[in-house]
Amino acid sequence: MVVVGAGFSGLAAALALKRAGAGVRVLEARDRVGGRVLTRWLPDGTQLDLGAQWIGPTQDRVRALVTRYGLATFPSAAHGTPTVLWDGRRYAEPPAPTGAVLALLDAYAQGVDPAAPWAAARAEAWDRRTVADWLARAAPDPVTARYLGRQLAGGLLAAAPAEISMLQLLFYLRSGGGSAMLLAMAGGAQQDRLVGGPGVLADALAAALGPDTVRCGAPVHAIVQDRTGVTVRTDDEVVTAGAVVVAVAPALAGRIRYDPPLPALRDGLNQRMPMGSAVKVHAVYPEPFWRADGRSGVATCADGPVTETVDNGTPGSARGVLTAFSYGAEATALRRLSPPARREALLDALVAIVGPAAGRPDEVVEYDWSADPWTRGCFCGALTVGAWRAYGPELRRPVGRVHWAGTETATRWAGYLDGAIEAGERAAAEVLDTTDQLSLK
Ligand SMILES: Cc1cc2nc3c(=O)[nH]c(=O)nc-3n(C[C@H](O)[C@H](O)[C@H](O)COP(=O)(O)OP(=O)(O)OC[C@H]3O[C@@H](n4cnc5c(N)ncnc54)[C@H](O)[C@@H]3O)c2cc1C
Repeated sequence: MVVVGAGFSGLAAALALKRAGAGVRVLEARDRVGGRVLTRWLPDGTQLDLGAQWIGPTQDRVRALVTRYGLATFPSAAHGTPTVLWDGRRYAEPPAPTGAVLALLDAYAQGVDPAAPWAAARAEAWDRRTVADWLARAAPDPVTARYLGRQLAGGLLAAAPAEISMLQLLFYLRSGGGSAMLLAMAGGAQQDRLVGGPGVLADALAAALGPDTVRCGAPVHAIVQDRTGVTVRTDDEVVTAGAVVVAVAPALAGRIRYDPPLPALRDGLNQRMPMGSAVKVHAVYPEPFWRADGRSGVATCADGPVTETVDNGTPGSARGVLTAFSYGAEATALRRLSPPARREALLDALVAIVGPAAGRPDEVVEYDWSADPWTRGCFCGALTVGAWRAYGPELRRPVGRVHWAGTETATRWAGYLDGAIEAGERAAAEVLDTTDQLSLK
């Protein structure tokens, strides 16, 4: 079997295939495994997770692997009071109406089966309505609508509220266990980090596959299939197998050439699931000065280029790290600025949150996932308005010997590391169900 992509999904698929006795080759474009995870260390040991960083409760698959490989986690920093910047005012928590709107969304999400969002009773109406449009009517005032749009379409999907359908949002809420689970630090998706970063888990998975299973620096350009098997082509290698698991986001799967060409509906899906647009920037300070003022460094903002920040310090390191996130239109606007202007805009936003000392970092560290040819945006892909009903059923449907993995195809914790693992294991099970594919190896 061949697996395209050595992110968490491809590695999980390969491990499941290997454990079932199949021969496996994993072809990975980059010179490393792990995909959308990347960690840099400052000389003093401060850990900067530039890609994915958190795991939380109910993410049972990723947690099981953390336990199996004996890896350690640490809780996200939690000192002091959070900040909510709201129409020029400062609060410790969002004003009450946000809770009522979130409760309504969570109730709606209960009506969406994450394995078949297109079949929901109200799917047609929800798929053509944008989150921005819904919030403009459901929220009691424009600030609440703006704040929630930034938290939900932005914080969860790294998109603008006008780009995301209600059905996409409700699917995502259901898949991750509801708004409180998705948005919270302690008790939610942002609860814990891995010592050494999530890349150590990817390395452990790759090591468990044994030597010579994963080939890095091997971008797959073409997948040819006929009645006897598949042929997968990289720059300098042709691999034949009984089946292939494509464990990359649809936006990248659509850049591979298929022969015969993909059916119109599958190709249509690849065209309608763009990656999100997030800017994640770490500002590093001599110490976490905001803690002395009783502030947690955790902030959410109704306006401005930064939607949220967290205190991203590493236990055992004296340095303070404030990590700022910007999404959708705000992220795009930042990307258009020159590097100095962008840095200034980001630091001005941090000054508004924790005070003037935020304007004097030791360094500012960022990785632009949108510019990375093997990711092209983050956190994940999301179907465009109207596309869930028209193309959603193609998301996991195999095309002959081509099977689809990647976090975008998950039903639980879609968009997250945990969902990537679910998707890889599900795709492997599909392949194993097709016995002639297994016998061909
Ligand atoms: C900034 C950021 C923050 C995030 N925060 C979190 C978080 O805190 N918690 C969380 O759970 N998730 C988070 N995520 C999402 C998480 O990283 C993804 O859900 C997960 O890593 C996706 O895994 P995957 O295997 O599906 O895809 P990927 O990780 O994208 O893996 C796909 C692999 O395929 C390779 N590839 C692509 N095209 C080809 C080709 N043609 N040939 C060969 N190889 C190819 C890529 O190089 C990549 O290694 C974050 C992501 C980002 C970028």
